[in-house]
Amino acid sequence: MTDVIDGEAVAADIRDSLSGSIDRLNAEGIEPGLATVLMSDDPASETYVSMKQRDCEAVGIDGIHVEIDTDAPAAELYDTIEELNGDPGVHGILVQMPLVDGIDSRRVLRSIDPMKDVDGFHPENVGRLVAGNDRYRPCTPHGIQKLLEAYDIETEGADAVVIGRSNIVGKPLANLLLRKADDGNATVTVCHSRTHDLEEKTRSADIVVAAVGIPELVDAGMVREGATVIDVGVNRVDADTEKGYELVGDVDYEGVAEVAGAITPVPGGVGPMTRAMLLYNTVKAAGLQNDVDVELP
Ligand code: NAD
Repeated sequence: MTDVIDGEAVAADIRDSLSGSIDRLNAEGIEPGLATVLMSDDPASETYVSMKQRDCEAVGIDGIHVEIDTDAPAAELYDTIEELNGDPGVHGILVQMPLVDGIDSRRVLRSIDPMKDVDGFHPENVGRLVAGNDRYRPCTPHGIQKLLEAYDIETEGADAVVIGRSNIVGKPLANLLLRKADDGNATVTVCHSRTHDLEEKTRSADIVVAAVGIPELVDAGMVREGATVIDVGVNRVDADTEKGYELVGDVDYEGVAEVAGAITPVPGGVGPMTRAMLLYNTVKAAGLQNDVDVELP
């Protein structure tokens, strides 16, 4: 029997267990605050930001949203970030990517106070993670770790293949799984667009994570019987639906579910976890910035 990994349920548990930490902060007169900054008119980015704001409201995090005109000078974005860096009511800052063309996203990430960098993309936080001394784990990889933990999927000694080497998913996840830690200790192979014979790598893996952005790239023939398959991909493909499209992952769900021991669906797998872990990092940030020991799940 294949386990369908229920990301909605695990995310709900994480949100529930954050409420104790939020109460703890409230008792000290602190309301955790997350600022989202949008400088883009990409409809998907607008949706992501509004979902994040809704999530904040649902758990008792103060959501602050700043929208910057796409034709405004870059200085307006930097000034906004500087202001948020200095605002004691803002504990986390998230600049929604991708930004409009012409803005240097690396410089933007560097300009966020690393203590408020709840995405975990500031070079200081990336360095800490690689050195095994993480402050904020990037939300998607951290969410994947929590899913594995919730379903008792052992990473220690496991052969894990991560397909995709992006800075937001593939690379941080590979580093986390590699760490000398209970939720790490895996033997990690990172595959990417130049990998020869992807199938040969994935077929021997205990855990396959697909973070590519190619619909149904991973098929049943690429997965070993009983392996765990985590699908990060979110791809819009044309479909005869009200919206004219449907969301599919990087994994051929129907086929792979026949052979995998456990699999995440799309939607309802990794996506809800990414959202929950942003709340987690914001609560952690509020604790760190106020010297309050918030116990985190
Ligand atoms: P990205 O475009 O930055 O990176 C894609 C990676 O895939 C690259 O490293 C590339 O080398 C690799 N790749 C491309 N073609 C390949 C091939 N044929 N074989 C093997 N590797 C190949 O992507 P990203 O930002 O990491 O996102 C990946 C996917 O995950 C996208 O669909 C994105 O929408 C989705 N995503 C979902 C969540 C979530 O919370 N569910 C979060 C982040 C990203």
